[in-house]
Amino acid sequence: MRRLLLLAAGLLVSGAVAILAILPRVVEQRLNRVTGNVPEASERAKALAARSLLVDMHADSLLWGRDLSRRGTRGQVDVPRLIEGHVALQAFTIVTKAPRGLNFDVNKADAADDITALALVNLWPVQAWSSLLERALYQCGRFSKTVDASGGKLVWIRSRRDLDRYLDLRTRDPNITAGFLGIEGAHALDGNLDNLDRLFGAGVRMISPVHFFDNDLAGSAAGEHKGGLTESGRQLVRRMEEMGVLVDVAHASEAAVDGVLAIATKPLVASHTGVKGTCNNSRNLSDDHLRRIAAKSGLIAIAYFEQAVCGLDTRSIAKAVRHAVNVAGADAVGLGSDFDGAVQTAFDTTSVASVLDALLAEGLSEDDVAKIAGLNAIRVLRATLPAE
Ligand SMILES: [Zn+2]
Repeated sequence: MRRLLLLAAGLLVSGAVAILAILPRVVEQRLNRVTGNVPEASERAKALAARSLLVDMHADSLLWGRDLSRRGTRGQVDVPRLIEGHVALQAFTIVTKAPRGLNFDVNKADAADDITALALVNLWPVQAWSSLLERALYQCGRFSKTVDASGGKLVWIRSRRDLDRYLDLRTRDPNITAGFLGIEGAHALDGNLDNLDRLFGAGVRMISPVHFFDNDLAGSAAGEHKGGLTESGRQLVRRMEEMGVLVDVAHASEAAVDGVLAIATKPLVASHTGVKGTCNNSRNLSDDHLRRIAAKSGLIAIAYFEQAVCGLDTRSIAKAVRHAVNVAGADAVGLGSDFDGAVQTAFDTTSVASVLDALLAEGLSEDDVAKIAGLNAIRVLRATLPAE
């Protein structure tokens, strides 16, 4: 009897271990699916991608626990695939809380949180089970390990000096890529603005005040009340600008975008967005906001997933870019995939040339495509990053 009990206990433990090992992979494979339904890029677009500086302003790849220094068989971004796709710079954005039943309309701040389950199943450190700040710092640590494990293939950008050195290095060695850290939702401060110093110290250089739910700083486009930027939110924006942290209005409610625009003194970004002009939903930017972000020399980075551009193909992405260019000008538009952000896409980061192809097919010049593909993002980062 005792033996049987021991055997049963052993089976339970090994079953639990097997589930813990397999479940995160299955979840990631299901949530970040690549349909593969994308035409091969033309030689012209491939050559343009190879000689351009491609920048992607948003990917949540740090969340899933894959070794990003190696080529993966799931998800959409890792270092080898960035290099294959000629991506020169990737924003690695950190998610710390995701309300259960995530949707684009109304999410309650007190809904059960899926990242807690992910942290438990993936055996994150105990302090990261409850503290959102610790979750962010843990993912910063993951990025640091990826940089170390990459053997020089992934360069970490924390300052203007880093960026300039890297761009110089890349003219001699195109088979490298670079990354910088961002955060989705300043609830990662755990309600204390002083925690901004710790996140800055850990390398964070871009933050959006909100993600899918309202917090004490601002209203979310998918929040319950969709309010504006609060007094704490205004303090956050001012401190971020002083420190050299790029302000991201992705996911912000219309009133919160207004609030940021009213006080911003530096270029700001919408790191992964669509535009109401081609895909009218509450998360996407209005023409008025496109113009006002451009007036601050900011960047509207167009995302690749279906709910952002109302289509799961490169043509829908290009149409959103074209609309943003028509309204805000070619200097104000960029790319922000939202790869690995629990989104299905037609392609992974090896095929960004196909997006350039679609932009050329929309009638944009090669010079404008090069700006949209990355030069505009580089300009915005140079204007906002700390000098060193
Ligand atoms: Zn997002």
